[in-house]
Amino acid sequence: EAFNGNVAAADALNAFIVATPEKAIAAAEAVDAKRAKGESLGKMGGVPIGMKDLFATDGVQTTAASHMLEGFVPQYESTVSQKLWDAGAGMLGKLNLDQFAMGSSNETSYFGNVISPWRRNDANGVPGNAALAPGGSSGGSSSAIAARLCPAATGTDTGGSIRQPAAFTGITGIKPTYGRCSRWGVVAFASSLDQAGPMARDVTDCAIMLEAMAGFDPKDSTSLDMPVPAWEAGLNPDMKGKKVGIPREYRMDGMDDEIAKSWDDGIAWLKDAGAQVVDISLPHTKYALPAYYIIAPAEASSNLARYDGVRYGLRDLPEGAGLQDMYAATRADGFGAEVKRRIMIGTYVLSAGFYDAYYNQAQRVRALIARDFEQAFEQCDVILAPTCPSAAFALGDKTSDPLSMYLNDVFAVPASLAGLPAMSVPAGLNSEGLPLGLQIIGRAFDEQGVLNAGLAIE
Ligand code: GLN
Repeated sequence: EAFNGNVAAADALNAFIVATPEKAIAAAEAVDAKRAKGESLGKMGGVPIGMKDLFATDGVQTTAASHMLEGFVPQYESTVSQKLWDAGAGMLGKLNLDQFAMGSSNETSYFGNVISPWRRNDANGVPGNAALAPGGSSGGSSSAIAARLCPAATGTDTGGSIRQPAAFTGITGIKPTYGRCSRWGVVAFASSLDQAGPMARDVTDCAIMLEAMAGFDPKDSTSLDMPVPAWEAGLNPDMKGKKVGIPREYRMDGMDDEIAKSWDDGIAWLKDAGAQVVDISLPHTKYALPAYYIIAPAEASSNLARYDGVRYGLRDLPEGAGLQDMYAATRADGFGAEVKRRIMIGTYVLSAGFYDAYYNQAQRVRALIARDFEQAFEQCDVILAPTCPSAAFALGDKTSDPLSMYLNDVFAVPASLAGLPAMSVPAGLNSEGLPLGLQIIGRAFDEQGVLNAGLAIE
């Protein structure tokens, strides 16, 4: 009953695309049965979680929040979701997101935007009247957790889609090292960047859930063949002997005062926990955003070629139409404006005449950004920075200006390009009473260091 009630409350936020409370109830009952028999309950035993609707779920519609996949019911389960069920979790429903995970506000969803449970005064000063973006693309996940509709949810992060929505809603989310969580059965956006991770109320819950989600998968050619560390058991907020790097290039001209202040607060908290703080330089930071917005669309344009009206979901077959007409009609109808924009940019930067100037150049920049981090990690153990350049913006604020939307990802994309683990933890409220997030970036494979610094902050 509680699960049904939560799903009804979720309707107001539009967080779920499909509700499956019966699955969460079944998991809770399975835990009761195990407890009665004295069996182990599993790492996530009985925990009702939300599943971002980018993960294929056997027998349950999987849409990527697109019209293109509306009504698509997979006959297989993604590796990550299967691992969560094996650990005892139960699915409360499929969570809304930006269409094909492209966006920073959840406004590109075919199923309508998600609303954050946080509110702000509107421009006329009417208290709590402005509806805020929950962040994106994992906006259903962040909204549902912040509204206490579920204790945890899956997210995916290609260029910030776990961290930015976590920051906007005052929750915690970690993108592990690229390859930690299998991409098998996750609708592909930009395959060299896509990475699944947990979103939850706090660092400990994220550690527990990440342990359940991660692990080698032979079905994903970029899966890391490494054992999953016991992150929960290794949690330790003592930062004595640890060096925290503060990247000077992230202190950008015109940085919001309140963001700068929260960053300073974070530095003070980590010092209190025993850390030594060092200045570091990541000289190619300013090229990360443009490189990301070439590489991600390039890979998306290739990945999304599979939606041809033949193999999955939608098929528009106008009267008397041939195959080409069917492709065109299906793709025109099935993809939203942002997805089409990415496909056009991606196709352009991969075209014969421009490939070297854009795509190859962006790949070279990516290598330099990865090298910046490698050099920085010779001087520090983790890096502390803001997650976003602002607190949550109002719905509609940036919809007509894609560039200002993209700029919101400025602090998130460098770690994505370098494949590094990065987490957003809540760092208090701004003067309007809205949550701010701080980001911790770690060395490859050092999720433990990231989690521990996060614990010292929270
Ligand atoms: N906001 C970024 C984009 O639109 C990141 C999305 C993501 O990480 N899936 O590409």
